[in-house]
Amino acid sequence: MRLIDTHAHLDSQSFSEDREEAIQRAQAAGIQIITMGTDLDSSGMAVRMAQKHKLYAAVGIHPHQAQRYSDGEKLDDDVIPRLEALLGEKRVVAVGEIGLDYFKEFSPRDAQHVVFRALLGLAQKHKAPVVIHTRNSEEDVLKILAESKTLGVVHSFAGDAALAKKILDLGFYLGVNGIATFPKSGPLREAIKTIPIKRLLTETDCPFLAPIQHRGARNEPSFVEDVARVVSGVYGMGLEEFAKITTENAMRLFKLG
Ligand SMILES: [Zn+2]
Repeated sequence: MRLIDTHAHLDSQSFSEDREEAIQRAQAAGIQIITMGTDLDSSGMAVRMAQKHKLYAAVGIHPHQAQRYSDGEKLDDDVIPRLEALLGEKRVVAVGEIGLDYFKEFSPRDAQHVVFRALLGLAQKHKAPVVIHTRNSEEDVLKILAESKTLGVVHSFAGDAALAKKILDLGFYLGVNGIATFPKSGPLREAIKTIPIKRLLTETDCPFLAPIQHRGARNEPSFVEDVARVVSGVYGMGLEEFAKITTENAMRLFKLG
């Protein structure tokens, strides 16, 4: 069986003791991994890890980090050239993680907007798919995505059917993770049911959001199978068939070999 963890943070400190083992556990189970960049250094690490361990990488600046690269009016000069160089490297398949976060709002909104729009522009120029983070910011994110000519995935979907439809109408995919396995996520599972399976991606968002089967533990890419086990049931589908379709979806979106 093949599955893809389309959203991992393998550069996280949480993997400092056993990064290679965690990668091997996933690969031994037939799981491919796309690891995210969250700032310039993290994006560089993601690319080096991808090349060393035969993963895939996305390069980007997470909204939490936006204020380090923008004063709220313009983007620092070196950001686009540095990301552009990384984007040209082998095994780099997307611009991400990018987006807006009004829930924690670790960076001021104007800085988040400057960074988000600039990185969407970068993705558009290179025809690269985007990996989108949105939290309490869906209205602005959808408006900005509608104006940009990018395609990609809205990751960690935890909304209702109406939000799913708006995302689908933009041509985007939706990524689901451990949140969909939690006992209290009945309404989310109902919303997921409305998403055409051809537009669904599996992910972990590790080290965060371990699925119910590993509650309280650090999350890791191999646990994407536990996500798939629950979500395949939502579709009333066997795990094998679900894995095949969602893997094909990721391969199509990220143009994986
Ligand atoms: Zn993430």
